[in-house]
Amino acid sequence: MSEQIRRNVERILRELQPGVILEAAAKTRAPEEILQAIEAGVKIVGQNYVQEAERAFAVIGHRAKWHMIGHLQRNKVKRALGVFDMIETLDSLPLAAEIERRCQGRTIPVLIEVNSGREPQKSGVLPEDLLDFAKEVARFPHLRVLGLMTMGPRFGDPEAARPYFRLTKELFGTLDALGLPKVEMRYLSMGMSNTYQLAVEEGANIVRIGSMIFGERPKA
Ligand SMILES: *Cc1c(COP(=O)(O)O)cnc(C)c1O
Repeated sequence: MSEQIRRNVERILRELQPGVILEAAAKTRAPEEILQAIEAGVKIVGQNYVQEAERAFAVIGHRAKWHMIGHLQRNKVKRALGVFDMIETLDSLPLAAEIERRCQGRTIPVLIEVNSGREPQKSGVLPEDLLDFAKEVARFPHLRVLGLMTMGPRFGDPEAARPYFRLTKELFGTLDALGLPKVEMRYLSMGMSNTYQLAVEEGANIVRIGSMIFGERPKA
């Protein structure tokens, strides 16, 4: 099993274009599995839940960078900041305010999550609200916007996700060209196991991969 994780990571790293960062999406995985991925070369671990991240962090610590990739509730911000190096899922101004309030003088790198599919049940900032949102976030002294993250709608056919990645890349370019102070378009986080190749074709430089590293998640 661990041998398989190592082989998967090595293969993905070999095949990824230079400049594209592999993030292991580690929800439901045991710390031992995550460690195998780190030993094979993963530098960033994505977690969806604060409590699960705390458990893994207690074992693994600073052997990797930790990114929050799930919806972050305001009442979990304090604990989240104890673990995460970056919040990829900034999606509201009240959440930004809470991060500012809890940061203890640290500068917190964030990505703005874009709801590129305009799906009502999903979190993220709508494309048309993104510019104003980024300007507002930049006013918080300790938040540093370093890019965008999107999930995009889930389809049977991965190719169907492409327009949503393309849209997010366009927004990334627009924000970049605006050159807002404290808003730096450095990271574009998009693509999962079944879509990361086309996400990279559309400009992603962080890909979040779970099942292709760790195997299929057991169905609940
Ligand atoms: C689970 C998850 C991924 C990875 O999904 P896989 O299909 O297992 O590669 C990526 N991003 C987020 C936000 C996730 O929750």
